[in-house]
Amino acid sequence: MMTANEIRESFKKFFEQKQHAIVPSAPMVIKDDPTLMFTNAGMNQWKDIILGTRDPEPRRRADTQKCLRVSGKHNDLEEVGHDTYHHTMFEMLGNWSFGDYFKEGAIDMAWEYLVDVLKLNPADLYVTVFEGSPEENIPRDDEAAKYWAKHVPEDHIINGNKHDNFWEMGDTGPCGPCSEIHVDSRTPEQKAASGKTGRELVNQDDPQVIEIWNLVFMQFNRKADGSLEKLSMNVIDTGMGFERLVRMMQGKHSNYDTDVFQPIIKAEQDITGLKYFTFEEETETPISKDQDNINVAMRVCADHLRAVAFSIADGQLPSNAKAGYVIRRILRRAVRYAYTFLGQKDGFLYKLVPTLVHEMGDAFPELKAQQQLITKVIKEEEDSFLRTLDKGIGMLDKAMEEMKSKGEKELNGEQAFRLFDTYGFPLDLTELICRENGFTVNEEQFNVEMQKQKERARNAAAVENSDWVELKAGEQKFVGYDYSEYECEILRYRKVTQKKNEFYEIVLSATPFYGEMGGQVGDQGVLVSENETVEVIDSKRENGQTVHIVKQLPKDLTAAFMACVDTDKRDASAANHTATHLLDYALKQVLGDHVEQKGSFVSPDTLRFDFSHFEKVSDEQLREVERMVNDMIRQDLPRDEHRDMPMEEAKKLGAIALFGEKYGDKVRVMRFGPSCELCGGIHATSTGRIGFFKILSESSVAAGIRRIEAKTGKECEELLYQLEDTLKVVKSFFNNAKDLQGVIQKYIEEHDTMKKEIEQFQAQAVERTAKRMVENARNMSGVKVVSGVVPMSPASAKDLAFKIRAAVEGSLLCVIGSRDNNKPQLSIMMSDDMVSDHGLNAGQMVREAAKLIQGGGGGQPHFAQAGGKNVDGLSAAIDKVVELANL
Ligand code: ATP
Ligand code: MG
Repeated sequence: MMTANEIRESFKKFFEQKQHAIVPSAPMVIKDDPTLMFTNAGMNQWKDIILGTRDPEPRRRADTQKCLRVSGKHNDLEEVGHDTYHHTMFEMLGNWSFGDYFKEGAIDMAWEYLVDVLKLNPADLYVTVFEGSPEENIPRDDEAAKYWAKHVPEDHIINGNKHDNFWEMGDTGPCGPCSEIHVDSRTPEQKAASGKTGRELVNQDDPQVIEIWNLVFMQFNRKADGSLEKLSMNVIDTGMGFERLVRMMQGKHSNYDTDVFQPIIKAEQDITGLKYFTFEEETETPISKDQDNINVAMRVCADHLRAVAFSIADGQLPSNAKAGYVIRRILRRAVRYAYTFLGQKDGFLYKLVPTLVHEMGDAFPELKAQQQLITKVIKEEEDSFLRTLDKGIGMLDKAMEEMKSKGEKELNGEQAFRLFDTYGFPLDLTELICRENGFTVNEEQFNVEMQKQKERARNAAAVENSDWVELKAGEQKFVGYDYSEYECEILRYRKVTQKKNEFYEIVLSATPFYGEMGGQVGDQGVLVSENETVEVIDSKRENGQTVHIVKQLPKDLTAAFMACVDTDKRDASAANHTATHLLDYALKQVLGDHVEQKGSFVSPDTLRFDFSHFEKVSDEQLREVERMVNDMIRQDLPRDEHRDMPMEEAKKLGAIALFGEKYGDKVRVMRFGPSCELCGGIHATSTGRIGFFKILSESSVAAGIRRIEAKTGKECEELLYQLEDTLKVVKSFFNNAKDLQGVIQKYIEEHDTMKKEIEQFQAQAVERTAKRMVENARNMSGVKVVSGVVPMSPASAKDLAFKIRAAVEGSLLCVIGSRDNNKPQLSIMMSDDMVSDHGLNAGQMVREAAKLIQGGGGGQPHFAQAGGKNVDGLSAAIDKVVELANL
């Protein structure tokens, strides 16, 4: 039996023999495409070629691509774990032809590989072809059917509709018919028992009759008005689910029973002490509902572990926005299943990381290299979500108690939605907990709330693109590494509407503008023609080209233009970018080799650098890093740039490549002395141009990730002036003393001593006042009444009241009216017997009497205080208290 790794290799070998260039998988997380967060098909990385903006050579390629289908057009998340053949992350094996072979070649090769090489049984294989669309005037794909007929009998060819057999890149763009290969993997017993042929079960959601390979024949381009035109170059794009193929090859009936997943499932069983039932075991002994839940949960965890670990390795950490939020949701789904069905109340997934790395670390070195980071991030996420889960369950308990007391049976949808929104409780979890306690959930209301939220999100993000208006055919030439001004014409433009904001995007025939990419912001500048000047407010990179953003189109679109970059801003960005390279180098020197760049941001006025490191960077280490960087700046190391270096050579030079970054065969290497990185950014001509480097802050952004913010050059100059100005002001406070530190130190000491003295002095004054007031006490019906108005702070007045209580034996009523500047305060203190025997309450009395000082307050039965506004009312207030005591 072939192992998964052997099957992967055999695919590559087969297509290599068919003259395909074997290329690496692109990262699963997409960084510079606003329309797509994750790679969801092998063709994503060839979009530029298919759209005609990148050189198609070599025209035959093949690879295995890490894909993630949890958002957007392809979202299989809810299926995963419940069925046995959809994953969140999976590998897609693919072969491409860009204007080389077309339908016949693709069909012949696919058949040869599956049947002649891998020896799958042709009797179990079915193929589909597009049935055609009369409304769109597209005929049935007879061509594909004809080629299939060379290999399979007529009754194994099935017509498929637009939904299954017409592939489109998006609302617009390349599209065309496709042909799928399905496998009937039922056991002989199942076939006999069902009475249905494989043909009848294709595309009927039967878990044993599933699609494994899709061959897409791109031959049209869909325009924004919905019409189709012929594509200038026919493209073959195929995708085969690796895990599904492995399952067929290993004679299994569930992807999870193959050696891709079994080691992880075994680790799950070891940790939980629970058992997983394979398809065979399940067939032999039918399993209970509880056991099925355990099975589902183990599949969910095994699957989601891969998705989360690979995305962290690709540089996408869980977070609360965009791609990071998608990853967080996947992880939380796994935690929830482990919590509910596997009894895991503490972090669990992170314990599976070693097994995953052991199994896949050889084929995907990024996993091995970052095992520590992956483990740490997953554990932290699990811990924090488990805390939220606990809180949510507490809230649900309370809601259920309330329903019980009101005799209600149904949890309202808004509450269920709040649980979902703030605590990440999906509806099924809320329903499950409710059901266990004899309640139901109003699903309809929940869905209404959900719909509302979706609409809010959609409105916030709505972007409308018009069609590109083509003025001239051709590809853009990027000249920004050598020029900041260049002659050009407009190739095409389009209007974009975003939240009622309108602007235009322009593609030029040649441009020195660097479009935002790799953390460096896009260039700004102007387009100048003989008669007008148009401001470029931003530029970004799309499909390998710079797109210039302008508020207004030039009046004469066909004029010759000079594209001029704002060089002040660009030079400042370039210096900051070069500084991040030096910083990266210095951090590795000072902190160690585990330091990996995890993100960066470079603009004209600041730079930010995120990197993996597992503790706070100390002040001394930061200083050391700064010294090292400034040293390299003073050495004025020249820029040593290699534009088209083969990847192998660059590696030999020791160039640092980033995990999760897409590189071609030829790379750009940027060297400044000992710092050597693969980079496509704009850099200073030498390190001296940076001027000076200063770190402003070091902080944590996520588990295991630190962030440094820094400034360079002129910005440092400004910083220095600010510091200097502040210092000048401070010095002037101290008569410009020479030894400023010593003088301030002395002031602080003096201040402390004086404070202590004042406190002592006040205590003595209180002591004296207490004595005097007790001496002057009146005796009323056997109760000592101590009262008077004194100048004193509220705190001292309280102190005074307690001193008096301590000094008087027997029954006491003490009423103090104190003044602090112009603020009156009334304090009442009584002995305990006044409360217990006379039934008095100081709190009530002070509230009543405080009216006379226009104030209010309260306290305990034997001691209470009130503040007010009217100092003149103090004497009357004291009399009022004595009167209320009714002695
Ligand atoms: P299905 O109908 O089974 O969901 P699909 O039509 O979405 O498949 P394609 O978009 O054509 O599939 O992708 C090409 C191949 O990738 C499929 O033939 C299948 O083998 C595999 N594949 C697709 N989605 C998944 C998934 N979620 N998990 C594992 N493999 C998948
Ligand atoms: Mg699908």
